[in-house]
Amino acid sequence: MARVLTNRILAFFTQFIKQKSYPTQAWLTLQVCLLMLIPYVFLALLPMDNKGLYVEIVSFFNLVMMLSMLLQFPLAARLKRTKLFSRIDWNMQQHKRMGKWIGAFFFLHPLLILLPKWLLSGADLSLSIIESITSPRLLTGIIAWVLLAVWVLFSIYKNKFPISYAKWKLLHTAGFMVVLILATWHITQVGSHGQFGQYINLVWWLACFLSLAFTVYGNALKPSRLSKQAFTLVSREKVSFNDWLITIKAKPGFTFQAGQFVWLSTQKSAYDLDYHPFSIASTPRSLPNLSFVIRELGDYTRSLEQLTPGQTVFVDGPYGNMTLSSNDTNNAIILIANGVGIAPIIGLLRTLAETNDPRPIRLIYGNRNYSQMLFTEELVHFENTMKNFKTHYVCYLPSTFPVYYQGFIDRDCLRNALQDVPIETSSVYLCGSEVAVKNIRKDLKHFPIAARNIYFEQLSF
Ligand SMILES: Cc1cc2nc3c(=O)[nH]c(=O)nc-3n(C[C@H](O)[C@H](O)[C@H](O)COP(=O)(O)OP(=O)(O)OC[C@H]3O[C@@H](n4cnc5c(N)ncnc54)[C@H](O)[C@@H]3O)c2cc1C
Repeated sequence: MARVLTNRILAFFTQFIKQKSYPTQAWLTLQVCLLMLIPYVFLALLPMDNKGLYVEIVSFFNLVMMLSMLLQFPLAARLKRTKLFSRIDWNMQQHKRMGKWIGAFFFLHPLLILLPKWLLSGADLSLSIIESITSPRLLTGIIAWVLLAVWVLFSIYKNKFPISYAKWKLLHTAGFMVVLILATWHITQVGSHGQFGQYINLVWWLACFLSLAFTVYGNALKPSRLSKQAFTLVSREKVSFNDWLITIKAKPGFTFQAGQFVWLSTQKSAYDLDYHPFSIASTPRSLPNLSFVIRELGDYTRSLEQLTPGQTVFVDGPYGNMTLSSNDTNNAIILIANGVGIAPIIGLLRTLAETNDPRPIRLIYGNRNYSQMLFTEELVHFENTMKNFKTHYVCYLPSTFPVYYQGFIDRDCLRNALQDVPIETSSVYLCGSEVAVKNIRKDLKHFPIAARNIYFEQLSF
């Protein structure tokens, strides 16, 4: 038993050391947990007065939540070179999830502090609250608390506010930077570790500034680098009533893997924060040209007509983990694209065609109408030239074209389309809107496919 465990741990470490590209989710989770827990262990070792179990537990959560707040800034910054923070898709999922927990915990924080006083001494809770609110020492904490609650709600209900995503993001980042500074001020004023003098407070301030430095780097320093490596727009072409095919020319040295995405800005200055994430639809073989399929959705994507060939494009990337692995020994490839989710999926399919992959490959491609289906001629060509490739078109609305399935890509659709592939030993690549990806992943749970063989990208953060 001990030997099996040791071998497993060794295998785990070997895999981590060997991996050259993106760390796995398990590793990222472990490292993020360690980053939150190690400082706590260090602080817990200090010879503090024992104030009882309740205070210890609350103090543990206070510290861990404060540390996770510090972590949100590097998680949300686009840090390609720092391995721990390089998986931006995973980071954004965790950032959204952790943000809600941090918000909920700190909302309850004053109550958790006052509760024992109230329960044990029978003191009047309303008096304790008034005392706390009027105490000058707690002013920064109270402002941070109110701002945090408002900003968390502003993040959760961002789609309900009539402002652009770029403006929302600027306010979101600036607001939480202020919250972090105020929260650090608060703990260095009233935190129980203050008794160890200024050293611990200095460490908190250093951690606060380090965390904010990641955001400052992303928004103020990185654009200077991006402006020196600007790409050029080659062409823009309308390929359906609401989809555009955009081609840009990369600077020498740019590399990527099929299935990845970049942040694009077509503004005049690289410092303009209006960068949008788009998946690369072409393969590395077509470099220096890169192509994107962009569906009109809001202000920016509806203004693509105004782009002019030859203009500068700023590109931050590549990012993303939905790529083909050279070690993939699975027996079949299942590609599932919903709507403009075809963008990275066609990149993967083109790569499989370029390498003459002999495995069964199935593409399940869903849209509202058949008229929104893109690359149909190329898909017919692949069906005729690849060894074992089939496309299954799925339309939500009735279609005059004989589509494979009418409805959403659901369990029945998947069951029919995957009858002739060895599902248990397949790799699945899935891309679409957040709702589509969530529902299809739920449906995939009814098939004997291991979660580690399902790679997905959702087209919103
Ligand atoms: C990893 C990833 C890959 C994507 N690939 C493609 C693609 O290949 N083709 C395609 O058509 N679309 C893709 N998208 C979606 C695309 O980024 C949005 O449709 C686009 O940014 C919308 O901008 P807008 O101003 O037109 O619309 P808005 O009305 O401003 O935004 C609509 C929604 O898009 C999202 N969004 C808007 N701006 C940003 C931004 N700067 N950063 C992050 N999210 C934003 C928000 O969820 C917002 O609610 C991708 C998204 C992600 C996260």
